[in-house]
Amino acid sequence: MAKRKSRKAKAAPPKKASKLDTAFDCPFCNNRASVECTIDLKHLIAVVSCGICKESYSTSANALTEPIDVYSEWIDACESVNEGVDTRRRRSCDDDDDF
Ligand SMILES: [Zn+2]
Repeated sequence: MAKRKSRKAKAAPPKKASKLDTAFDCPFCNNRASVECTIDLKHLIAVVSCGICKESYSTSANALTEPIDVYSEWIDACESVNEGVDTRRRRSCDDDDDF
């Protein structure tokens, strides 16, 4: 009675990659998951940059800073810039619906 152990190739070591999923959508070129975040805790600097259009944003970081924080800050910064631009671009609302 040959007791055969069918060993399947276990190619899945229980090693969790420490790299988090740090890909976000780019607010400039709108490519999905083209923005990567790098947090440099040595210099306490966080950088988000788009691999497609090369837009980037850097801010200060600390041990609690997460990629999503940096990304949200970038989005906020973009929005405040857009607000300044938007004052010049008047939206023409067609609201004359009274017949
Ligand atoms: Zn981009």
